[in-house]
Amino acid sequence: MIQKIDLRSDTVTKPTPEMLQAMFEAPVGDDVYGEDPTIKALEEKTAAMFGLKAGLFCPSGTMTNQIAIKVHTAPLTEVICDITAHIHQYEGGGIAFNSAASTALVHGERGKMTPQQVEANIRPLDNIHFPETRLVALENSCNKGGGSYYTIKEIAAISEVCKRHNLALHLDGARVFNALVASGDSAKDYGLYFDTISICLSKGLGAPVGSVLLGSKEFIKKATRVRKVMGGGMRQAGYLAAAGMYALDNHVERLQEDHRRAKELEQALLQTDYVESVLPVETNIIIFKLNEKVSDVAFVQALAEQHILAASFGPQMIRFVTHLDITEEMHQRLLQVLQTLSFEKVEA
Ligand SMILES: *Cc1c(COP(=O)(O)O)cnc(C)c1O
Repeated sequence: MIQKIDLRSDTVTKPTPEMLQAMFEAPVGDDVYGEDPTIKALEEKTAAMFGLKAGLFCPSGTMTNQIAIKVHTAPLTEVICDITAHIHQYEGGGIAFNSAASTALVHGERGKMTPQQVEANIRPLDNIHFPETRLVALENSCNKGGGSYYTIKEIAAISEVCKRHNLALHLDGARVFNALVASGDSAKDYGLYFDTISICLSKGLGAPVGSVLLGSKEFIKKATRVRKVMGGGMRQAGYLAAAGMYALDNHVERLQEDHRRAKELEQALLQTDYVESVLPVETNIIIFKLNEKVSDVAFVQALAEQHILAASFGPQMIRFVTHLDITEEMHQRLLQVLQTLSFEKVEA
């Protein structure tokens, strides 16, 4: 039987036998009572890693982002983010629902805002027509930007604007490890610039569940209340935290492998006659545009016939994501299929 190659997302990975063993062996307790040693260890480890003081283990990255936004803002205030941001596009309108805050949407370059764009979107405080700007949120790497990433220098420049205007800076770091591995920047330096950071263990790192919100002790204390009211207080979830611990120890360096394969896919796609353009590949995401020969729906269907799953990402747009469960053998087959696919132009 031909193995399925699933490129829809890096969330589709299954725990490895070693990860399952680590989960099986985890010491646990009731975390709502603050008694789960594995969760505590994960929160402390990740906080130290990013140069922040405390962490909060949550079921999802949507929850860590939404809790952070809720604690940073108040009703009638505003968050500045790129228009492609996950917090705006893919969290169900949660900023309005959970925080009663608005968003100032920046048209950045492949998901990335400049310090000038951020500054231009800060509302004047003395005019009651405007909401009050409270928070700036970055995403690193940028999903809809095709896996593009901010360097620490770019982050520092945006942080400088935030500090000057007394605004908090949050990072949606669902794929921050991809950004770190690709840029060579140090995680610890992030703590100098971000007030809060959300990291996901269930994307490229390959854990089945889990995100951690990082910040100051005081911030995390408030965040713990919000997590409870959102229904995110978990009990013996150390079994899940153990998967995250294992992933941090074993699945970070190997992200380079995903990035190398993504680059090779970019090159292969550029050589076909059915691809119009590919967003520059910087990490593990490949977003490309098909030309008039084939629609996104027909392309996804043609791949499915070859046991390859891909995601339509808008009209004529396709997204591939490389990850832990793609073997070298699958990768080679994929390159071959992309080379051999051919489409007749559909007559109108
Ligand atoms: C996946 C993702 C999240 C969090 O998603 P969950 O599925 O709720 O864990 C947040 N931001 C970005 C950019 C993501 O890709």
